[in-house]
Amino acid sequence: MKASVDAHPTLGILGGGQLARMLVLGGAPLGVRFRIVDPAADACAGQIAPLLAANWDAFDKLESFAREVDAATYDFENVPAATAEWLAARTHTAPNARSLATAQDRVAEKTLFRECGLPTAEFAAVATRAELDAALGRIGAPAILKTRRLGYDGKGQFRIRSLADAGAAWQALGAQAERVGLILEAFVPFDAEVSVVAVRARDGDFRAWPVPRNWHVDGILSASLAPAPVDDVLAQAAFAHARAVAEKLDYVGVFALELFAVKGNAIHGEQLLGNEMAPRVHNSGHWTIEGAVTSQFENHVRAVLGMPLGDTSARGLSCMLNWIGAMPDRDAALAVPGVHWHDYGKSPRPGRKVGHATVCADDAATLAQRLQRLGDALGRTAQVRPVVDALVAQR
Ligand code: AMP
Repeated sequence: MKASVDAHPTLGILGGGQLARMLVLGGAPLGVRFRIVDPAADACAGQIAPLLAANWDAFDKLESFAREVDAATYDFENVPAATAEWLAARTHTAPNARSLATAQDRVAEKTLFRECGLPTAEFAAVATRAELDAALGRIGAPAILKTRRLGYDGKGQFRIRSLADAGAAWQALGAQAERVGLILEAFVPFDAEVSVVAVRARDGDFRAWPVPRNWHVDGILSASLAPAPVDDVLAQAAFAHARAVAEKLDYVGVFALELFAVKGNAIHGEQLLGNEMAPRVHNSGHWTIEGAVTSQFENHVRAVLGMPLGDTSARGLSCMLNWIGAMPDRDAALAVPGVHWHDYGKSPRPGRKVGHATVCADDAATLAQRLQRLGDALGRTAQVRPVVDALVAQR
């Protein structure tokens, strides 16, 4: 472990995907240097920072990595707990292993939310077919059966529309019950999905970016609009929940809570339910690169290295669009005003996040117009439509 953090500290990142790549791009202006570890030698962050190809249990290789860095963090929450603990014993590591372990398990995560006063959908841990039947008897349908661990982007999920689907759900996921565990969750008839992306410093300073509204397609984030047109009471509640969770975990760095906003009635207004936590920078915070005073990536680097945090205020309105599978036509997009392009340098593959664009504007009408133009130019009108509709409804 190096003795002190100097003017040009080196930050190690476990995981070399697009999040690591954007952490490098966000931290470099501060004078920070980076080292990356990933099992894949061609991980995309390796195009812009030194990358060590090593498996998570290759401790002999990780030894030199740990010696070279002043602090370490993650771009990937499923780094094995044993590796996280090993690293934490050798260098300042954030977020801590407990935060990582909690976020790796949907049951632990939802239990924590409830302890912090954030309600969740009804849920039950499921290990056997009999437990699935019992859980369905209690929770009812519709419901979603998910893997407890190692699920992402809607993978490892089965929608149960009626009790008759129990057999099909077990057929789809039962084989994974022993290895990663399962959870049954009541289906939430949400009005909107929102998230809170927040950062906590080593000294406890806590800040959150304005809440984005998120649209998913096939369980994968498609678009985020920020600041979302949500009422102030809801936004303040989201911040308070995020703060409570961060303090409970003694969390350091950026994290996100994915939330469902459920329409209330005359007595109870709109309510927030916690879905999941990401112990890292998050896709619904990519808009902060151009749309906020300080991006989630820069603030994560600052927090992990013990620097003061930056202002999380928004600059105008932003919409982030994810490019899934393959990149659309860059030059057609760049001709549209307010468009910022991010190509992660990955090869195309169905379902893979290969890039994103953020469209910025000073007001809702201009943003709607630019999005429509971009959607038309790229043949992505269906992707921009819900955001344009929300912006039009906002006026
Ligand atoms: P997750 O992997 O838990 O983030 O789920 C991916 C997406 O599936 C979410 O963003 C929602 O759009 C949807 N989803 C997940 N869980 C539920 C639920 N309990 N009720 C309704 N929709 C859900």
